[in-house]
Amino acid sequence: MKRSCALLLFLCLLLSGCKAQTAEAQGFAFDTILTVRLFGGGEALAQEALSLADAAERRLSCHLDGTEIAALNAGGEVTLSASTADLLALSLDVYDKSGGALDIGLGGVSALWDFKSVPPALPDEDALEEALSHAGADKLALDGARAHLTDPQAQIDLGAVAKGALADEMAAFLTEEGVSSFLLDLGGCICVRGGKDGAPFRIGVEDPRDGGILGVVSLQSGVASTSSGAQRGFTLDGKRYHHILDPSTGYPAEAGLLSVTVFSDSGALADALSTACFVLGEEGAAELLALYPGTSALLLTDKGETRIIGEVAFTPST
Ligand code: ADP
Ligand code: MG
Repeated sequence: MKRSCALLLFLCLLLSGCKAQTAEAQGFAFDTILTVRLFGGGEALAQEALSLADAAERRLSCHLDGTEIAALNAGGEVTLSASTADLLALSLDVYDKSGGALDIGLGGVSALWDFKSVPPALPDEDALEEALSHAGADKLALDGARAHLTDPQAQIDLGAVAKGALADEMAAFLTEEGVSSFLLDLGGCICVRGGKDGAPFRIGVEDPRDGGILGVVSLQSGVASTSSGAQRGFTLDGKRYHHILDPSTGYPAEAGLLSVTVFSDSGALADALSTACFVLGEEGAAELLALYPGTSALLLTDKGETRIIGEVAFTPST
């Protein structure tokens, strides 16, 4: 389990008390532990919400056979489900508005990085160069539900947006089922609805430098998506290599930020923007969020300063 999501959830629960009757389901998808916690709803509903994760992974993963994205990456014209088509459209919009900082067409490049390799190893430079020359979400032609890649060597990877999209699907399901208060912890992506026991949820934001708590954000309803270089990566010859890549180089993004948490009513948008903002750095992040009303962010710079863009109810740790 990724330390960050465990810690975030622990803090949420700790700080929000234990008065309401809870039902919980836990599972694993998208390479992370997922937790569904309902405040006033049965175990069966929690399990049903959780089962949406498997279904989403079987639709969106570029690592499994038989998914819609695998079919797209294999070439030819594909008819997508409505939710996948919507997610691709949103990703293309953020790709355009972020100047390519969020690039779901980076699959060929991200596939060359193995952040779990022991001992740590960098990708072959020539292979990286070659993959980069075929990368770019601009190679995805999307017309409603019909999609194809204009470059047969381009590869789509929805790793940067899938968990946010899953949060939206789970939240829509639970709301339709009449659950008004819940918390979803999808590994770096926390979705809350309806407050708890009459007060907003209090979400701990991890300090990636030491695993401590940077501070607490109060959130009644919405999604908090965190992108951080500490989440996945390795250290080689004293240098940290992490899993958020700069599409202009194919190497880990270094834009002066240690972590970015984006807040939005939309999980998919929060997830897309947190990755893009991490790549862009502080100034670019502020410019990008200005294009998406209703979004806000908490940044931690590499100088150890916290920055807030828009409105965030943040209380720093003392
Ligand atoms: P996490 O998956 O840890 O929550 P992110 O949402 O920031 O973090 O997404 C990172 C994942 O997205 C990577 O593991 C990789 O699959 C993919 N990725 C890496 N860099 C980019 C990028 N610049 N644009 C789009 N996807 C990216
Ligand atoms: Mg993301």
